[in-house]
Formats: sequence, C-alpha cells, structure tokens
Amino acid sequence: MGTVATVTLGPDYADRIESVTEHIREIFDRLESELSAYRPDSAISELSRMAGVAPLQVSEDAYHVLSLGQHLGRLSAGAFGNPASPLVSLWGFNGAPVPMAIPSDQSICELLKLVDYRRLVLHDGTAFLPVAGMAVDVGGIAKGYAVDRAYDYCLSAGIRDFLIDFSGNVRAAGRPLRREGWQIGVRDPFDGSRIIGKIALPSGLAVATSGSYERFVEIAGERFSHIIDPRTGYPVTGTASVTVLCADAITADALSTSFFIAGLEGAVELLKKVSSVELLVVPDRYPADLWLTPGLDKA
Ligand code: ADP
Ligand code: MG
Repeated sequence: MGTVATVTLGPDYADRIESVTEHIREIFDRLESELSAYRPDSAISELSRMAGVAPLQVSEDAYHVLSLGQHLGRLSAGAFGNPASPLVSLWGFNGAPVPMAIPSDQSICELLKLVDYRRLVLHDGTAFLPVAGMAVDVGGIAKGYAVDRAYDYCLSAGIRDFLIDFSGNVRAAGRPLRREGWQIGVRDPFDGSRIIGKIALPSGLAVATSGSYERFVEIAGERFSHIIDPRTGYPVTGTASVTVLCADAITADALSTSFFIAGLEGAVELLKKVSSVELLVVPDRYPADLWLTPGLDKA
C-alpha cells in the first residue's frame, strides 16, 4: 500500500517478533492484492473494470470494506464515498497524472454523476457499479481494515501486549514496557518533525489520523489535498489534520477521512451519529489551534 507499518511487542514476546512480523506482512500483502486500486489484478480494480457490465463476486474482505464504506457514506451525508475514485484521479492522485491546470467546472460536473456512493450496489457478496466510468478506491479505509486483521491475528497468537501502526492507523492491546498503557504522539500538521501532543490509547481501541500535509498535489502553484469532497468535486480545504479514537481501526480510518471532509462545521453533526468516538481537529489556519472532544485523554 505504498507505506510503512511497524509492529511493537511487549517484552514478554521479544523472541516472537520475527514470526509475528512475517505473519502480519503476509496479511498485508494478501489485502493489498485484494484491495489496491494501483494493482490491475486486485478485486477492487476488477470491480471498476466491470462497471456497467455485470456484478462481481468479491472476496469477503472486499465486501466488508465496501459495506462499511457505504455505511460511512450514509452517515456523512455523501461526504465519504469509495466511488469518489474518478474525482481522486482527476485531481492527480492514486497514480493519475497531475493536471497542468485546475480541472474545469465542466469536467468536474461530468464526473459528479459517477461518484455517488448510493449507486454502488452491494448484494449477497457481489458488488456492482452500474454505470461505465464509475470506479471505486478504498484507500480511505483499507489500511485500518488491515490493522484490524493484524490485531486479530496477534490476539489469536496469544500476544497480549502489542501495538500496530500502519501509516498513522494504530491499534494496540495491553501495555508497553514500564508504562501503564500505550500512548500516541499526534504529529504537528504544520511541522512534521514535531508533535502537538500525546493521547493515551486504551487497550483494544484504535486511533487514526488523516492529514493534508503528507499527500497533496500542486497545480498552478496551489496545493490541493488528496481527500476530495464527492458532493462538490473539489479537494477538501479548511482542515489540517483530524485524529479519531474509537473501537476499531477500520472505523477510525474511515472516520478520520470523514471528519476531515466534514471539517469543524460538520463535525458536531457527524459526532451525533457515531457513538464512542473521540476527536481531535486541527483547522488549517495560523496560528494553530486544536479542537478536541472532552473524553480525549491527554497522556
Ligand atoms: P491518509 O490517512 O493516508 O491521509 P486517508 O485514510 O485519509 O489517507 O484516505 C485518503 C484516501 O482516501 C485518498 O488517497 C483516496 O484514495 C481516498 N479518498 C479521497 N477522497 C475520498 C472520499 N471523499 N471518500 C472516500 N475516500 C476518499
Ligand atoms: Mg482514513
């Protein structure tokens, strides 16, 4: 998935680090081959190729990820949506060439018809994009899912103290050496070498951060983030980073992207629809300020 993952085990499991890492690598490799939009042989790419042709039987993993994506589409009133892919490509992400000029309203308008999350048909293990030109991209949710699968594996292997971090999608159990519990440093979106604070990560829960600072394109001297609002067709502005703490990593991953799109204005509305979610938002303005829910325990 084009990024780095780290696995940390508590001291009781030091002699197992190699075999655990190897197992997790296998899980991630398998999921990448199913879920990557970059790989032409993945189930997700196949689904996009079959747009307008016929429903496709997809793997259990792909079905689960797409179903949760659609659920998030409903919760976020269409802000989150795996069918956003054609717009993501239009703006020069996910391997598409960066456009020389800002895309025209007309080209955006044409794609807006193809990116509605409600048009993805999920039924009994099959997925179908009913119109040719539609495409899906589960990049906003797949890393979290991979972390959950690795988390399940660690528990089943009898490991009680561990932390998995897949490019800012983190889930942990137990505690580290000489501490009560795990902590996560939240990176300063305006200065990647600093952290703006630490939050405690209770055993079993997950944290994810979405930021505009790592992946963006520059078109005509302007920076655009890799998260696109499928209702407007434009990259999201106004948010520098969003960190979500919740029950599992796939939800944290999808929600961090969703809250990024919702921004501070939409966050309150979205918070009402999700339960047991803690949130930290850094608006994209200077001087930096933080907005966080009361339950976010500062470590
Ligand atoms: P990161 O955490 O690395 O910043 P995210 O988890 O926030 O990444 O997801 C960003 C990815 O989600 C994009 O690269 C793109 O593939 C996809 N994406 C972009 N816009 C949307 C959207 N509105 N809904 C769902 N997925 C999106
Ligand atoms: Mg995400």
